[in-house]
Formats: sequence, C-alpha cells, structure tokens
Amino acid sequence: MNTADIKNEKSVRYHGVGISNGCVSGPLRFFRQRRKMGRIRACGDQREERARFEQALLRTREQLDTLQRRAIREIGKKEAEIFEIHAMMLEDEDFLEAVQGALDDGACAETAVERAAEKHAQALRSLGDPYLSARAEDLHDVATQLLRQLSGERPDGDLSTEREPYILVADDLSPSETVTMEKSMILGFVTFGGTPNSHTSILARAMGIPALVGVGAVSEDCDGAYALLDAAEGTLTVSPDAEERCAFEEKQREVNDLAREHDRYLRSLINKPAITRSGRKILIYANVGEGREIAQALLNGADGVGLLRSEFLYLSMDRYPTEDELFASYHDVVQSMQGKRIVIRTLDIGADKQIPYFALPQEENPALGFRGVRICLAREEIFKTQLRAILRASAYGNVSVMVPMIVSEDEVRACRVILNECMEELEREGKKFDHGIEFGIMIETPAAAIMSDEIAREVDFFSVGTNDLTQYTLAADRQNPLVERICEENREPILRLIEMAAEAIHRHDGWIGICGELAADLHLTQRFIDLGIDELSVSVPYLLGVREKVTECK
Ligand code: PEP
Ligand code: MG
Repeated sequence: MNTADIKNEKSVRYHGVGISNGCVSGPLRFFRQRRKMGRIRACGDQREERARFEQALLRTREQLDTLQRRAIREIGKKEAEIFEIHAMMLEDEDFLEAVQGALDDGACAETAVERAAEKHAQALRSLGDPYLSARAEDLHDVATQLLRQLSGERPDGDLSTEREPYILVADDLSPSETVTMEKSMILGFVTFGGTPNSHTSILARAMGIPALVGVGAVSEDCDGAYALLDAAEGTLTVSPDAEERCAFEEKQREVNDLAREHDRYLRSLINKPAITRSGRKILIYANVGEGREIAQALLNGADGVGLLRSEFLYLSMDRYPTEDELFASYHDVVQSMQGKRIVIRTLDIGADKQIPYFALPQEENPALGFRGVRICLAREEIFKTQLRAILRASAYGNVSVMVPMIVSEDEVRACRVILNECMEELEREGKKFDHGIEFGIMIETPAAAIMSDEIAREVDFFSVGTNDLTQYTLAADRQNPLVERICEENREPILRLIEMAAEAIHRHDGWIGICGELAADLHLTQRFIDLGIDELSVSVPYLLGVREKVTECK
C-alpha cells in the first residue's frame, strides 16, 4: 500500500475476505479502539479496589445481559449466544481468582483485570487451537468492557456523533462493539484482522451488513476518503478513479437488483404454504419469548407459534405471578395470533434460567438437576396456576400446551392428571376453556426419544428441543464454548433420535415439530423432511429463509 498514492488521490485497492455479499460506497471512518484502557490509577486501599472491581463486575454483567437481549431482538438467538459466552467468562473461577490474587498483591482493579485477562488469554493461545485462540479474543473483549466500567470512559474513537453514513474501518471489532454500533449509519465494515468464522463476521452476516475482514491494514490517511467496498469480490478501493466508480456503480445496481428481487421473492412467500417439490406441506412456526414478538412473526408469514417460552414472564417479575396475571398475558398473546396455533410451553426454569423467588437449591450440576417439569411436578401449586391460566386463554384461540424436560411416560401421565384436574375445577367454576386443547411434550432428553413409542400414546404432538437434546445426548454442556465443536460435528446421533420420535408419534396419529436452533439450519432441512418432520419452529429472522428452503426440497 502506498501512502503517497492516497495523498495524490490515486486509487488504492485492498483485499480481504468478503462477508455477506453486497456493494456499498461512501466515506471511510476509522474506529480507533484502545483495547487497553491503560490509565493505571494510583492504588486506593485494597478494600476500595475490591469494591470497585465488584461494582464493575456487576455492571458488566448487566451490560452483557442488555447486549444479549438487544442482539436477540435485532439479529437472532443463535448469534446472540456470544454474549452468553462472555457472561460465562466473567464467572470463570480461574479468572476471578487471578484478579483476586493481583488485588491481594496490591494492584489496582484495572491492573488486576488486565493481568488476569492476559494470563488467561495467553494460556488459551498457547494451546495452538484456532478455536481457543478466538476465545482469547473474546476474553479481551470482556476485559475491555470491565476496564471501561472501571474508568467510566466511552470507547475511544466513538463514532456515535457521525451525521452521514460511512464505511467503518477498525483493526478489529468485538461482538459487543458490533452490536452497539448505530447500524443505520453503517454502510459496511472493514477490519484488519478477523476471519469469516469470527463472531463479528457471524454478526455482520446475520445483520446483512457487507463487510471485509482480514484486510491486513489500511493507512490512517484514508480516514474520510471515499471508497468502494465489494464484499462479493473481497475488495476495498479507496479514492477510485472515474472508470472504477462507473464499473462499481453498474455492479452495485446489479447486486442491489438481485438482492431486492430475492427479498421480493421471499416476501411473496408470506402467507403461501411451504410445500416441498413432492407436495408435502411443512408448517413454519415461530419461536417467541415475549408477546410483542408475535406481530413480527405474523408479518413474516409464521403459520403459528411453535414455542412460547413462558418462563420469560416469570423471569421479569420478583414474585410468583397470579393466575389472573398469567391469564391476562396469555389472553393477549392468543388474541394476537388471529386464530393460528400457539404452543405454550409450561415453565422451564432451573439450569441456566434461575429465578430468585423460586429459591431453588444450589446444585452441583443444575443442567442435570431440578429443572423444567421436575419442578412443576414437585411444586404442583405453581404448575396448576399456570395450567389454569393457559386453559382459560385457550377459550380465545388455538392453544396447545407443551411440557419440557420429560424423561418418562410416568411424568407425562402425571402432567395429564394435573391438567385434567385443572379442567374439572374450571368446569365446576363455570370458566370457559377449550375442552379439546392439544397436549404435547418436548423431546429434549435421549430417554424421551427412546421411550417415544410409549409416550406417544399419551400425547397429541412432540416438539424436539434440539438445544437440550444435543447437550444431553453428547454430554456436552450447551453453555460451554469448549465443547461447541463436539455439538457441531456430531449431528447424526441427534438425527437418529429425531427419527425414532417421528416414527413413534406418527404411528399414534400425532404430529412432530422441531423448535431447537437446529430447525433453522438450512443444511438439515431436507433431512428433517425425509425424517417426517411436520413443523419447523424458528426465531423470526429465519422464518422466510426456512420457508424458501422447504419449497426447494424434494
Ligand atoms: C431446546 O432445548 O431445544 C429448546 C427449544 O428449549 P430451550 O432452548 O428453551 O431450553
Ligand atoms: Mg430446552
């Protein structure tokens, strides 16, 4: 690269790996991060430093939570998982111990965080595994957030005051920086580092923003220069000449026309049934956590809601909701469905979803402990309150009720008995409900899949929770990034369990869907259809893509 060329306004071309095809042009703006906040304070007394660290830890946790919710809303659940990984890093005992050790040695909170992060990052890098090296970068991102909380500084090079859209240039972008950027102003981004599989690239792809990663370096003299970013070609042309501009504009028109055409095509699929080439109809449902996501789901053509994660209402309160409060919430949700089916999953707390007022016992292995239906069967009053509210809401639409974390036929029968008791009570009280309400369970343990023939006799439908089914089948904690690859490389055992469940429920005239994240994996759509899946339930951003894919399947 030649600085003289830029100063003389001669065009300069950089090469990198393009992410999300697209052509954009505009001024370059450099985002200059200062990864290390550096400004080391004179150390206060140790108690004070410890308290400052605790405060920063708390605020960083809250911030990560906000970032995760924002990412789920704007991009998708799967892509937002990186913030869960970051939150886990903050809980890492070795990391916290290293911070404590540095504080004990008399370091100020900033130095303690930097030392601990560096030590851990080095340990991860030294293993020579590209995946673990990427986790070292995540660790730096987390440490930077902690340091910002400690210093109260905004990120260096904050571009939030820019008035015109721009192409952002940075040596690298962390997931938290990517998500918090003002997207309406960003035409595209260029990073010196990064790989197509880094989390930032994944986020860029999910947000549909053209990007170029692994460019090496771009001279700072380019700040403010007009540039052409061609993500399909993997090039950035700074200060293009007239001929280059002309050719680019032509390509941009073509690319945009194609993108618009694809978008129009996707939109044309809304409200059309998803039918395979051999004539099989697959229902495309949405996964939602909150009622307000339903409007978006319907606008994107959802045939129904295949999973309402009902625990979110409980999570947002600081006491048990009453039956009337639950009913009011379900009633609104059911009414907004315009007659389409909504599957309300009963409470699935425990494991990674803890609610303080439930006062659950501390457990060594919470994912293998007291969670989901186990809690509901042990604390029947809580379960009954929820079931009565769901039943009352069923009078206003097409409601199905579904129970998570089942391992046996006995559990299913016990749930059914309680559901029947609730129906009898409501009947006696003269309250309306749908007497034929569908009752189903989630297949998310290997035991449920293996026993699916017996269980299928007791229910109307199955919905496969591949997130948990994967974790329990492969003995790979869904929260632990160190075993993520094991999950990605071992789909076959999960698919075989799904096949068993599908055959069993069809023998008993029921239907089967998938509501775990795998439902949105377009590489598996054909396989799911071959296995006999009737419904795929995915988060809102994936609805149209899955619908399109189904129409291309045999
Ligand atoms: C699953 O386990 O796949 C699922 C859909 O449930 P959750 O992710 O809420 O545990
Ligand atoms: Mg689950």
